[in-house]
Amino acid sequence: MAEAARVVSAAGIETGYGRVQVLWGAGLDVKAKESVVLLGANGAGKTTLLKVIVGLMPAWKGSVRLGPDDVTGWRTDKRVRRGMAYMSEIGVFPGLSINENLRVGGQFIEKAALKRRMEELYGYFPDLAHRRGALAGSLSGGQRKMLGIAKALASSPTLLVMDEPSAGLSPLFVTQVIGVLSRFRESGLAMLIAEQNVAFLDLADRVFTLDGGRVRFEGSVAELQADDSLHRTYFGLA
Ligand code: ATP
Repeated sequence: MAEAARVVSAAGIETGYGRVQVLWGAGLDVKAKESVVLLGANGAGKTTLLKVIVGLMPAWKGSVRLGPDDVTGWRTDKRVRRGMAYMSEIGVFPGLSINENLRVGGQFIEKAALKRRMEELYGYFPDLAHRRGALAGSLSGGQRKMLGIAKALASSPTLLVMDEPSAGLSPLFVTQVIGVLSRFRESGLAMLIAEQNVAFLDLADRVFTLDGGRVRFEGSVAELQADDSLHRTYFGLA
């Protein structure tokens, strides 16, 4: 069988802040309908790699491809129009209502399509549907995260890139976020999720680990668990 087409790939990425280099030849790829988790400790460079992939930071070296296109020099909005969506750790605009946040997320799609998409998303997120006019800043941490996901999905992307969806959430909400993401995964959405919480490996078709700005491992969750040293690093000794 032919290998699934790559939705996104990054290769040989080097970048940093000022003169401080953070990524040293990092790369990864996500295939169609695939869910990939980028696992790494605090400061490993996960956010930085995602920012290069979505175009919020330039790569000093290396390239990013979106489908058949080399998008390395493209602005973020052009990448979003090509089917990429990004959820940062913050994820929403607290001073805007739920409705307004979704409209911002779907700003590049046609008005009628966005209206339909918003209704579809409200079906997935009933708690948000009941409070459409409420300010995002008035929501609980867990609801805000759900809104962040809905906002990123408003443009009907083919690839959802997420930076630490577990950040600031209690274990109960982490389980809920994983539950909602698994429904979108089943619908064929490709996902790239940067995390340090191994609970998200439940969603992973493939895993990359990032350590000191370099990818150390690429493989399945079972392969990650079978490696003693990686197992100790990411799952602890318990
Ligand atoms: P976290 O889980 O803490 O977000 P991460 O794996 O996403 O970690 P990055 O945020 O990409 O890691 O940070 C990688 C390195 O780059 C860290 O050493 C961090 O201190 C540094 N760094 C991140 N942002 C900046 C910045 N704006 N200016 C200077 N250094 C930065």
